[in-house]
Amino acid sequence: MNSHFLDTPIGYLKGIGPQRAEVLQKELFIFTYKDLITHYPFRYVDRTRFHSVREVTEDSAYYQLRGHIVEIDFVGDKRTKRLVAKLRDSSGIIELVWFQGAKWMAEKLKSNTEYIVYGKATSFMGRFNMAHPEIDVVTPELLANQSSFQSVYHSTEKLKYRNLDSDGIRKCLRLLTLQLNEQNIQETLTPSVIQDFKLLSKLEALKQIHFPDSKVLLEKAKFRLKFEELFYVQLRLLRSNLVRHQLTQGFVFNKVGDTFNNFYNHHLPFQLTNAQKRVVKEIRVDMGSGKQMSRLVQGDVGSGKTLVALLSMLLAIDNGFQACLMAPTEILAKQHFATISELLEPMGLNVALLTGSSKTKARRELHAGLEAGTIHILIGTHALIEDVVIFKNLGLVVIDEQHRFGVAQRGKMHKKNTQPPHVLIMTATPIPRTLAMTLYGDLDTSVIDELPPGRKPITTMHFMESQRLRLIGFMKEQIALGRQVYIVYPLIQESEKMDYQNLQMGYDALLNDFPPPHYQISIVHGKLTTQQKEFEMQRFIKQETQIMVATTVIEVGVNIPNASVMVIESAERFGLSQLHQLRGRVGRGADKSYCILMTSYKLGADSKLRMETMVRTNDGFEISEVDLKLRGPGDLDGTQQSGVMDLKIADLAQDGQILQMARSSAQAVLNEDPNLAAPENQLLIQQLQYQGKTRSSWSKIG
Ligand code: ADP
Ligand code: MG
Repeated sequence: MNSHFLDTPIGYLKGIGPQRAEVLQKELFIFTYKDLITHYPFRYVDRTRFHSVREVTEDSAYYQLRGHIVEIDFVGDKRTKRLVAKLRDSSGIIELVWFQGAKWMAEKLKSNTEYIVYGKATSFMGRFNMAHPEIDVVTPELLANQSSFQSVYHSTEKLKYRNLDSDGIRKCLRLLTLQLNEQNIQETLTPSVIQDFKLLSKLEALKQIHFPDSKVLLEKAKFRLKFEELFYVQLRLLRSNLVRHQLTQGFVFNKVGDTFNNFYNHHLPFQLTNAQKRVVKEIRVDMGSGKQMSRLVQGDVGSGKTLVALLSMLLAIDNGFQACLMAPTEILAKQHFATISELLEPMGLNVALLTGSSKTKARRELHAGLEAGTIHILIGTHALIEDVVIFKNLGLVVIDEQHRFGVAQRGKMHKKNTQPPHVLIMTATPIPRTLAMTLYGDLDTSVIDELPPGRKPITTMHFMESQRLRLIGFMKEQIALGRQVYIVYPLIQESEKMDYQNLQMGYDALLNDFPPPHYQISIVHGKLTTQQKEFEMQRFIKQETQIMVATTVIEVGVNIPNASVMVIESAERFGLSQLHQLRGRVGRGADKSYCILMTSYKLGADSKLRMETMVRTNDGFEISEVDLKLRGPGDLDGTQQSGVMDLKIADLAQDGQILQMARSSAQAVLNEDPNLAAPENQLLIQQLQYQGKTRSSWSKIG
């Protein structure tokens, strides 16, 4: 039946012998008919129009001609031997040339026969010819099949060598699509979904995507196939969310008790923003529901996620549970520990810190405290997930700056109690809605879409190297006003050695421009020990130094309100979300803050757009949209584990609307039939299983 035909190994297709099958597998991962049929065109050329020979006037342009072959000859000596055929139409004659496969071609071509020819014109000694054109005898059938838009396929050098360039691949697809019929191509969407969105049938869509009969049908085919692809991604995500809600029991936090109230009423350092209030409420509802919470909090840098995490942890404590907060770096863990210990100081709660550099003795005490339940809140790095860390009664796990943790690590947290603790994930950077729906479509999400009041927008400037003097002058001004300055250097693994050189050179130059003792400079990078880093951080925090030179270790989370200037060196080497994160380190205090992007003169178009975007806006969501358009979903953080990579035709940067429709449609199906038990929905289950074989959704953690 359906899957059987498409699962046929590609070598069975007429014209594809073992050798071509092998290169198809190696080069394009095409193993089966299904892989070939989903090797979708990446563009189309218009073939509705025929040109006359006289109109062939532009070198390297593609032309479609129709005429009679009038002469076929081999020309040249042994080395330059080639086949030349003359094509004549009412306006003139053009030479068609074959260097390879000439003998075969010579046997195939017939004089005084009408052909349709399509290819690239090349100018040679003032005359045009066409080398290796596509050429077909004019038949009524061909004319009827003449697509208005011809598909163009990705190929590779090795494939071309085996005659599998775009045209070769199209020929294979022609053979394959001719074999498709209602029996071997089963419909993959239910009649009601098809009707709701007026979709082409699967069979028709597959034929039209490769060999469109018209522009309208091509668009319909694209829509149908993108819709289907996104529909199944969403159905899978929504379904696993549903299953989690149905099946995964969670600890019930139904009390809002003394700890929470006392803190909220007496020790909150400032009024919560409305967005923070709303999100805390959403979390409270989740944790009181009896189901395990898996909630993602998205919020721009500086939107106050830490406080939301803290209030959630207090709820856990009120209900007799412990809580932990996991951060991606040691510096950040320490900073959270410092902030939270200070905030909770008057509350008599026991907060502990665990990182990779915790001493054995301290560790032992800490382990004992956790098991006895005397430690209420544990803050740390991934050291938290080690098996030796055993809690008396862990009720809530907060994961800060999520994207640095892998699936397996998150899964391990689930095993820290008899049933999975609630999980709250806080993202480092906003991500576009379309991507969020796909990456986190199986989580419940909250958005903190409001910054605390009184924040002055950060002014971002883009300087070229020649403006360095101006930069130094500006820094001196700001330092004279009592502010502190970050200077960040890129650190990219492959060029680590050179990067450290740059950092060191920059630091030496700074010492010249900002000489001691008047100026003091901290330096923090990955080659330092934790103690050294800590020491340097502390000097900066205590305002003993005015400048902090760093690699991206300060990228995430660090909060030093008096630092109001962020200088990013070689800014063109950073991605947009990184730049935005770095900029988010300033603008945290009352002072006007600045971000200065230093780049060289020569910038590519993408880098230019990144700089312009940074200068134009402070809005993390807007920035993430540009980022997605520039890089495509595959390169964004976290996408590798999401199934986004499996998308063959839909494009999250372009197809937001289709995604929205597909998600609503999948949601509607589940609303009516949560277990997909209805006969008409069996098809969906089968399809999920069929596709599911190779996928990994990260909802399956734990
Ligand atoms: P992020 O969301 O980037 O983790 P933080 O939680 O570090 O942000 O908060 C950024 C800064 O804003 C901190 O200095 C914090 O004390 C402050 N802050 C958080 N919430 C509020 C609020 N409601 N009003 C004023 N300042 C706040
Ligand atoms: Mg934070």
